[in-house]
Amino acid sequence: MAWYTILPFILIIKEGTCFQSFKPDIAIIGGGIGGAASSHFLTELFKNNLKIDLYEAKSIGGRLATVKIDDNEFEAGGSIIHPQNKYMQEFVKLLGLEHVSPNGKRTSIWNGNEIVFEESNWKILSLAKLIYRYGIQPFTLNRHVTSVINDFEKIYHLQDAGESFTNITSLLLAMNTKFPKLLQKSIKDYLENLGYSEKLINEIVEATVVVDYGQDVNVQSFVGLVSLAAAGFNLWSVKGGNKKVPEHLIYRNKYVNVVPSCVIKIVNIPTNSTQNLYEVHYRNQDSTIIMKAVYDIVILAIPLTHDQEFPIIFEGFPRNDFYNQGKYHETVATFVKANLKPYHFGLEEESNILSCDPNKTVISSLGRINSIEGTIGNSKIWKIFSNKHLNSAILNEMFSNFKMFKIQETKQIVWKAYPEYSTEIREAKFKLHDALYHVNAIEWIASAMEMSAISGRNVALLAHNDFLTKFLFEESKQMNIPEVPESTPSSEL
Ligand SMILES: Cc1cc2nc3c(=O)[nH]c(=O)nc-3n(C[C@H](O)[C@H](O)[C@H](O)COP(=O)(O)OP(=O)(O)OC[C@H]3O[C@@H](n4cnc5c(N)ncnc54)[C@H](O)[C@@H]3O)c2cc1C
Repeated sequence: MAWYTILPFILIIKEGTCFQSFKPDIAIIGGGIGGAASSHFLTELFKNNLKIDLYEAKSIGGRLATVKIDDNEFEAGGSIIHPQNKYMQEFVKLLGLEHVSPNGKRTSIWNGNEIVFEESNWKILSLAKLIYRYGIQPFTLNRHVTSVINDFEKIYHLQDAGESFTNITSLLLAMNTKFPKLLQKSIKDYLENLGYSEKLINEIVEATVVVDYGQDVNVQSFVGLVSLAAAGFNLWSVKGGNKKVPEHLIYRNKYVNVVPSCVIKIVNIPTNSTQNLYEVHYRNQDSTIIMKAVYDIVILAIPLTHDQEFPIIFEGFPRNDFYNQGKYHETVATFVKANLKPYHFGLEEESNILSCDPNKTVISSLGRINSIEGTIGNSKIWKIFSNKHLNSAILNEMFSNFKMFKIQETKQIVWKAYPEYSTEIREAKFKLHDALYHVNAIEWIASAMEMSAISGRNVALLAHNDFLTKFLFEESKQMNIPEVPESTPSSEL
């Protein structure tokens, strides 16, 4: 359709007279931060003229969750937020929530045999130690990461201008034409080519990738750079728990109806018009009865890999390649109440520990954690991330007087945490079909709360633009507006 045939309708819509009558029915599947952000941005874009059913199989928040130990709660999943994460900052402000600082304890890097780097209680001494071991490279690397963050931030301006992207390559390309290539090269090769030393890569860089993603420096370089960015200063969490952000975004939005059910199938129903409809089949966790509902737009805010707990069948689509062939990395979060044995690691006093060789160390990281209220008190709660279950023999080596909370009490949580990253190029699509979108495609670039929020806005923009175009096309057909051939030169108009 030529642009000038739809112009009158754009004008009508801008004045808000006509659009009122055409409310899309939208299904969002998944109530994590990705689904919550999608519902927020859709409501904004459709100016409240929409109806959303949000399906959640377990609990709102998804990978943002807390565990209760004694009388306190602690972050069990996504915990750290970067100060430049614009959408997370905006959500917290909008919802009247507050920041807390994570545990500011000093950190040491352990390779299984010895501590290779130990922060001091004095900042100046830590800097001196850093220079002694790695020269000035940590500072040049920091500058490099800052320049990547600056390019990354272009996404916010692009989204403010209404731009949307159908796949991860086009999104990266819009930030910096070199970014798509970062997915094809490991962070190790990338930094080696830039002249960084093996020591820095195998110790500092590896420790950040291990603590953030449980993986090593063979991950693709974009996610490696995201890990390095997360090692910066002024990191924060949401007071009362990060899950408060998705909870409040969803429950305070009166256009969102939460359906506490598991979606099992999505059927494409072709219609005579340009408008495709989707039938969503779902059931309550403890019921065998399958229910159905039909939608104009479906947003999947869940990972689509074959190893997930609640798989979805897609039926009636011309192509059925929505599942990514990759896997999600399993990370075990274990909580213990104990005293650390610093000498087990070659330390004299207590410290947070990051592994730079998880095959040897068994653990990926351990740290004494603050409660979600920001208090550390006398609780002596340590959170350990590992790639495998930790038995009491291993914990006994590291801790004294330890009490591991029983698995039945879910104090050891096994997460399908984030993608298993490699340098095999995996194109991931945000737009899977006419009005079917996928938020978690973005996790193949990097998994983080802010990434899900950015993707939530991207799919909201895609859905809104597509819906508007279809709506205008249908309207122009009904009103019999003749189309002028596309090839008409603009000067003749
Ligand atoms: C241990 C750990 C540590 C992390 N640390 C950080 C960190 O420090 N900082 C950071 O920014 N990020 C961190 N992350 C990553 C971050 O938590 C995730 O990227 C983010 O929470 C993903 O949100 P999401 O909404 O996209 O997906 P999810 O949170 O996984 O939400 C998906 C939801 O969909 C539901 N669901 C799935 N299938 C169905 C179905 N068929 N029907 C209905 N509902 C369904 C699930 O129950 C879930 O609630 C961490 C993750 C983990 C696991």
